Amino acid sequence: MTIDTCKFAGQKAIVRVDFNVPLDENGKITDDTRIRGALPTLKKVLEEGGALIIMSHMGKPKGKVNAKFSLSQIVDAVSEKLGVPVQFAPDCAKAGEAAAALKAGEVLLLENLRFYPEEEGKPVGIDKADPAFEEAKKAMKESQKEFSKTLASYADIYINDAFGTAHRKHASTAVIADYFDADHKMLGYLMEKEVQAVDNVLSNIKRPFTAIMGGSKVSTKIGIIENLMDKVDNLILCGGMTYTFAKAMGGNVGTSICEEDKLDLALSIMEKAKAKGVNLVLGVDCVAADKFSNDANTQVVPAGNIPEGWEGLDAGPETRALFAKAIEDAKTILWNGPAGVFEFDNFTAGSRAVADAIAKATANGAFSLIGGGDSVACINKFGMADQVSYISTGGGALLEAIEGKVLPGIAAIKG
Ligand code: AMP
Repeated sequence: MTIDTCKFAGQKAIVRVDFNVPLDENGKITDDTRIRGALPTLKKVLEEGGALIIMSHMGKPKGKVNAKFSLSQIVDAVSEKLGVPVQFAPDCAKAGEAAAALKAGEVLLLENLRFYPEEEGKPVGIDKADPAFEEAKKAMKESQKEFSKTLASYADIYINDAFGTAHRKHASTAVIADYFDADHKMLGYLMEKEVQAVDNVLSNIKRPFTAIMGGSKVSTKIGIIENLMDKVDNLILCGGMTYTFAKAMGGNVGTSICEEDKLDLALSIMEKAKAKGVNLVLGVDCVAADKFSNDANTQVVPAGNIPEGWEGLDAGPETRALFAKAIEDAKTILWNGPAGVFEFDNFTAGSRAVADAIAKATANGAFSLIGGGDSVACINKFGMADQVSYISTGGGALLEAIEGKVLPGIAAIKG
């Protein structure tokens, strides 16, 4: 079933959203992107004459009630955005009566799911090394099923629109789906868009395909790099991981960030790229700094010849031109991880060159997907969010999807 074909009139839909929004010390929302992201799905159900039960997690309360993470703080904001009053159920596992009383067009927001350890399904207060751990884990799986069944009992239809947690097999993201048949469970609009975007870069590829992998470490990106190696035409590796490659090739990297134990890995990535005919683009020069600070002294030096006491914090001008060339002609583009320490205004040039080239290619008809935490922060810092095709809302979920892993939240619905 899809959200467009489902008939919601007179039905109750329980929707898993990601309302894990940042709050300031007074409980005020500082960025409502996630709430806005779920609105098309929520409004669709209401406009068709359905009733809504909305559920989410917030923060990491670790299975315990904690007022700091109470979703009661966002009731007014959700109500304002939906344009209807929102009722609040202060205990997500005891909301049966409130849910049963809902009429068409009414909305009930459940308290933070993670106030119950059953949501994540991990036993609490017992160490993994404890001989009783396996028993506790089994018992928790059983109570997770009960908890999921309770949530499912509130509604006729289940919708998952929380891409940010789709890589987790939690009660509300996956287990609950077992209590609905295929005609009564579906992805929400946000999830559909994310799935489509990932499909565009993993299956439905228009060539040439350029992936830009940046960030601090090669070790955290290796799964993705390996999966992409079979798909891309150009692979740009940038940011801090550059220096592990420079060192592996016998260069001097000064005090640059470098994973000494990953030099062999770097060499094997280079070998693989060669064997598979992938054009691997590594920086040739960098902006080196005499300290890790925005107001450090700087000099442009070859990427493998950084003086002692200096560290590479950004891509140099020749490198930026190489990156732009590999991006501008592409028809499919994936960007994950900045090309320098973009948080410092004086070291944004590499990331800016990447963003500019992506915007240019997108204007020429390329599909560009930006995702994974910092590259999103980067494109927002440059005010260029509207110049790319799609910005993913999922950090870990997007990375796992691109690694080629099956996301439990999607599998639970699509099978
Ligand atoms: P990641 O979380 O692995 O995607 O890494 C993102 C972080 O990498 C950002 O905070 C960047 O500041 C950082 N980064 C990018 N380039 C460098 C570099 N040359 N040296 C140190 N950190 C970097």
